[in-house]
Amino acid sequence: MWLDDLKTGDSWMGVWYALSHCGMCHALMRSGPCPVCGDLIDSSPRRVVVDGVERLITFATQGAIAWSTYVLLRLMQREWERPLAGQDWFGSVPPEKHPSQRLAIVILFWTLFEGLMDRFMDAGLADLPEAIRKDLLRRYGTIGSRLDRLYRLMWSTTFWDDLRDLGFGSEADHLKNVQERRNDFVHGNPEAIDDGLVLATVERLQTVQQGWIAVYNLRCTLKSKKIPVWKE
Ligand SMILES: [Zn+2]
Repeated sequence: MWLDDLKTGDSWMGVWYALSHCGMCHALMRSGPCPVCGDLIDSSPRRVVVDGVERLITFATQGAIAWSTYVLLRLMQREWERPLAGQDWFGSVPPEKHPSQRLAIVILFWTLFEGLMDRFMDAGLADLPEAIRKDLLRRYGTIGSRLDRLYRLMWSTTFWDDLRDLGFGSEADHLKNVQERRNDFVHGNPEAIDDGLVLATVERLQTVQQGWIAVYNLRCTLKSKKIPVWKE
């Protein structure tokens, strides 16, 4: 059960566990062969000589997770595990006007997703001439315009259609729902973020990120300029 899995801190890191970049094409992967170029990571221990003595050093590589991604996931976990206040928390306000007490999880999740998309665009546009890349990112500065119009300019489709084509249709629907309800929240309807949306967000936390990794591997690999997702 997803709920049980989340009881241990490590489960919140989920898809990021042991994830790193392929040394050849820069795809995100765990162990070989690379899902994009087929390259095999040689993870055998390395022999090094220290003070004239040969030693075996366990293979290690830089993980892919960015510090801000780690922090946001930990904050989501903390918010999920925090005890709830009593029923009278909102006083005499009618129940239908109550937002979820854990609505911060949805706000943190959207911040996480926006950060992932920033790094997606950094990597996906990396081979463009610097002035054009900067101009496009400035011109399409909002997350909505990047996922649609800038995405169409670059890849003749949208981020949403790429997600669907790779088997993450319900994750695309969920992200659009979160985007809409977060906007409602910001513009005077805090109750738009209810317990159902919080639950769906926690339930889909890992598959949304899996979908993001799949689209990243489709659009942001095999570039001559390689910008790692952990670089912010
Ligand atoms: Zn590769």
